[in-house]
Amino acid sequence: RIVYLNGDYIPEEEAKVSIFDRGFVMGDAVYEVTAVIGGKLWDFEGHVKRLARSLNELEMQNPLTRDELLEIHRELIKRNPDFIDGGIYLQISRGNAGDRDFAFPPADVKPTVVLYTQAKNGLLDDPKAKKGIKVISIPDLRWHRRDIKTVQLLYPSLAKMAAKKAHVDDAWFVEDGFVTEGSSNNVYIVKDGKIITRALSNDILHGITRAALLKYAAEAQMQIEERSFTIEEAQAADEAFFTSASAFVTPVIEVDGKPVASGKPGPVATRLREIYLAESAKTAL
Ligand code: PMP
Repeated sequence: RIVYLNGDYIPEEEAKVSIFDRGFVMGDAVYEVTAVIGGKLWDFEGHVKRLARSLNELEMQNPLTRDELLEIHRELIKRNPDFIDGGIYLQISRGNAGDRDFAFPPADVKPTVVLYTQAKNGLLDDPKAKKGIKVISIPDLRWHRRDIKTVQLLYPSLAKMAAKKAHVDDAWFVEDGFVTEGSSNNVYIVKDGKIITRALSNDILHGITRAALLKYAAEAQMQIEERSFTIEEAQAADEAFFTSASAFVTPVIEVDGKPVASGKPGPVATRLREIYLAESAKTAL
């Protein structure tokens, strides 16, 4: 695999980052994952905008323009001809500070920029999209700036492991009695035809797929209610589903051991997935 590191396209074995890099020492880095389908980038503009926002919130330099980022993404697709479907991972850290220090390094320290392809063939035909997934709930013990897409993913990793141990697919975080989001996705329920999802705030990541989906749903005259919901409401809902850049729209059929309605993917999630895939393909770059 050819990867990108600070301006160079090099084989992955040659891509080395300092042990003093703040991404490594402090988790002082942000990231994005852009889906690639048939060699095209999905929702690219959304990811670029969120990246700029994450960097800005952390007072980190934005080293690349939108056009430069697009060029790097495209160059990686070109230089890895076997890479057709999957995602491109991008990470920007505050760079090599020279030594470990809580304070930010001087402004002339350059951010470390890394991008690489992650192939996942058949991304669109994941059997989980047809079957739906099962989730458990766990307390949301993350920090309170979940709107910033940082690489501090230890708690989400623990959540995935808890799900694995419970023989389910994912964990939903719960705070003050309400679901915040999934371990790496935004979550929704459907009740009486209405799509219900938590409103944007610092409590959740502002999903690029969420934004696109709600726009398409509104255009299709579907009813949307942005509000928090409980695990009990999810269990009593007509449908549940989640969204993320790499899984699009995926039904959730069981929550904490209880089936959602019939325990089968519902018509709203199925339709939204179709709409999302069709619309995103149109704007792919
Ligand atoms: N919430 C969290 C915590 C996530 O990690 C992700 C995945 N990036 C999402 C939501 C979904 O965001 P997106 O649709 O931009 O992938």
